Amino acid sequence: MLDGSIERSAQVPDCPSCAQPVESRHRYCPWCAAPLRSKLVEFFAPHPLIDGRARALRVSRYLGGDPSQRHTRLSIWDADRAVSAISLDPDETRRLSRFLTEGEGGGRTDDATTETMPAAAGP
Ligand SMILES: [Zn+2]
Repeated sequence: MLDGSIERSAQVPDCPSCAQPVESRHRYCPWCAAPLRSKLVEFFAPHPLIDGRARALRVSRYLGGDPSQRHTRLSIWDADRAVSAISLDPDETRRLSRFLTEGEGGGRTDDATTETMPAAAGP
């Protein structure tokens, strides 16, 4: 139900197990039944004391299939649909992970994470 049209995956040209052609909509190879992608999904609740319209942040990690197709998809959910989404490649996913845990346990461990894109001008 929550897998809406924005969650369409990219093409998986061949099964990594039997090398038969498969379609991107298949989660399992129709020829040999091998899993074509591995997907982890977690929902995160918004801060209860800070106003916002979003109901949840959904993070989907696509770990299987062709290495070039691996990514993390972040989507903002309002009621029962995603209102916006972005996909991060594995390098950006790791950078986000470091950023989110930075400062926990007493301070920075990686100065490189301070080099980010310029912030957009605020309202
Ligand atoms: Zn197969």
